[in-house]
Amino acid sequence: MSASWPTASRFELILFRTLLYVGAIALAAAALAWVHAPMVAMWVLVAGLATLVAYHATYLARLHHWAALPRQRELPFGFGSWGHAFDRINRHMRQDTNERAETAAELERLHAAVDLLPDGLVVLDRFDHVQWSNRSAQDLHGIFGTRRPIDHFVRQPEFLAYLREGDFSRAVTMPLSSAPGHRFALKIVPTDDAYRLLVTRDITETSRLEQMRRDFVANVSHEIRTPLTVVAGFVETLLDMELPAEERRRCLEMVQKQTTTMQRLVEDLLTLATLESTSLPPEHTGVLLEPLLQAVVADVRALSAGRHPIALLIESDAGLRGAPSELDSAVRNLLTNAVRYTPDGGTITVTWRVVDGEGVLSVRDTGIGIAAEHLPRLTERFYRVDRGRSRDIGGTGLGLAIVKHVAQRHHARLEIESRVGYGSMFALRFPSARVANAASLKAAADRAEDASPDTEDPAQPLTA
Ligand code: ADP
Repeated sequence: MSASWPTASRFELILFRTLLYVGAIALAAAALAWVHAPMVAMWVLVAGLATLVAYHATYLARLHHWAALPRQRELPFGFGSWGHAFDRINRHMRQDTNERAETAAELERLHAAVDLLPDGLVVLDRFDHVQWSNRSAQDLHGIFGTRRPIDHFVRQPEFLAYLREGDFSRAVTMPLSSAPGHRFALKIVPTDDAYRLLVTRDITETSRLEQMRRDFVANVSHEIRTPLTVVAGFVETLLDMELPAEERRRCLEMVQKQTTTMQRLVEDLLTLATLESTSLPPEHTGVLLEPLLQAVVADVRALSAGRHPIALLIESDAGLRGAPSELDSAVRNLLTNAVRYTPDGGTITVTWRVVDGEGVLSVRDTGIGIAAEHLPRLTERFYRVDRGRSRDIGGTGLGLAIVKHVAQRHHARLEIESRVGYGSMFALRFPSARVANAASLKAAADRAEDASPDTEDPAQPLTA
């Protein structure tokens, strides 16, 4: 009840009025007695007082009856002072009823919102009996009803030990049979002396990320430790002053090879970090594919040093909307792999074409190929089919992870087909929204060239 009922003053008023009526009746009787009509005066006094008593008795009885009702209804219509008092009481009752309804609606909205929370919430009393639970908690722990001990529903020994020990500064993590494959953190949050809250949170994703972080740090450390050990060994050999010049040169070449590998590893890690932390490549700038591919193929021919014929087939003059440096990096990684994993004499073909509106950029080789079981994991960081071989040829195990990231950032699909002993085909399929009109690209390229004639960057801004 929000407001105190100001009925006390009403009842004082009734008393005051009653005294007034009694006074008036007494005065009237005294006046009649004074004009020598004592019998009439007596009857007026008796009748007046009796009427007054009957009036008050009737309304007191009604009030008494009303107060005894289990759920208070409105008071019946009243007459005179009691009428005013009844009106007042009724008005306050209505006000009170409205406020109760509003509070109930508010509570219901709150319950509905808490029910939608993904975290399970259980209110426990001081004996750890369930007082209330939201829907998530009911689904996760199979809680139904109230007043049952929480250990009827959560029976895992680690939780029971947690309850018993009473150190609620930490959470207890465990799987729940209601959600196979997930991991949960259960934490008791003390609220006051009478109640406490059991919060259940799904931490599967957090645990997975934490595990990934640990694996990543372990992998990077391992990748760096191996060349470092080799370098340390050769440096020790080099310290021997008696070493013949030829041997000394061989050691220095090995040291150079290992430091180059470490350099490449750091560069690839930085590229990945940049790809993960920068905003998506813009759709309003683009790149002409022909000059980009020619530049990369020229570099890779130098790497191959004539060991592989490398063909470049440009079947469409369309360009791509996106980040030129990222696209360059993706193609460079695919082509470098093709050279590394194709024995001398094998051929490599780079093709750019547009099929059904999709831009398809593919690198095909006739190299060693990849067994089918490795294909699903090939783009994972540091995943290699043959670790030793990759290391020997200076691989970092990050090339295809970079390609996958670039593809995702351009909404492209990376398709891999391969057969052991026959070769591999890596294709990036760009959606039509990323394929840019050649004419607008060329116009933009010409304008950009006029603006800065020195630039040799094949990446050009696109006109709208
Ligand atoms: P790496 O630096 O080891 O080449 P990548 O991420 O570029 O790392 O490639 C992962 C693995 O995929 C390589 O170790 C190799 O086993 C395999 N691979 C990639 N490209 C080819 C290819 N063209 N032919 C055969 N195997 C390849």
